Amino acid sequence: MSSAETKIITCPECGHENEVKIFRTVNVTTDAELHDLVISGELFRFRCQNCNHEAELKYPVLYNDMKHKFMVYYIPEIDRASVIDEKLEAEYSKYGELEGITRRLVGTFNELKEKIHIFESGLDDRAMEIAKVALYDVVCKRTGEDVRGGYFSKYSENEKSIGFTFFIGENNEHLVQTTRLEIYNKSIEIAGDYDKDTNRSFLLVDRNWARNALYRYKKKN
Ligand SMILES: [Zn+2]
Repeated sequence: MSSAETKIITCPECGHENEVKIFRTVNVTTDAELHDLVISGELFRFRCQNCNHEAELKYPVLYNDMKHKFMVYYIPEIDRASVIDEKLEAEYSKYGELEGITRRLVGTFNELKEKIHIFESGLDDRAMEIAKVALYDVVCKRTGEDVRGGYFSKYSENEKSIGFTFFIGENNEHLVQTTRLEIYNKSIEIAGDYDKDTNRSFLLVDRNWARNALYRYKKKN
């Protein structure tokens, strides 16, 4: 079940007090209609009932997909310091014993969307992060530009390939880089080697995590 509470949010433009539904938990297995609202960002959009002013709402939400067996806890970076202590600790213990459920922590909305995409595709996000980091370096070298970020954007079982969209240079130009599925499979091995128990709690699997896993692997081999 999903859970939500109603909050009063004062419009920064006109000062109107709006009643806004804030979700604490989103369960897309029991409430399928929420899936698209998360992906489109609609769930995090504030729209003033008086002046139509729009803004992005940032609040922690636990995304739960029982069919694909994963949970992603989205805690916006600005909130993390305050939330992580009390609330998250409580949530940690509440979901601590869930066997076979992949649990992740993310700090941005884009990361939340990427995790959902990866898990719905039946892929391993640890291996995806490692493959992405490896490709960062390839793209950097090839373009001679700074890579500012990237996300999983393509998966083809037939062509046995995965792809990422990277933002490069000062203008954040988009560049799609694909690679063979072998790289991904190798990355699964590296990920498992690095951390055998990645399902013990909500884990932050991001670029840093992947860099550490790769570093450890290179040192050992
Ligand atoms: Zn307003």
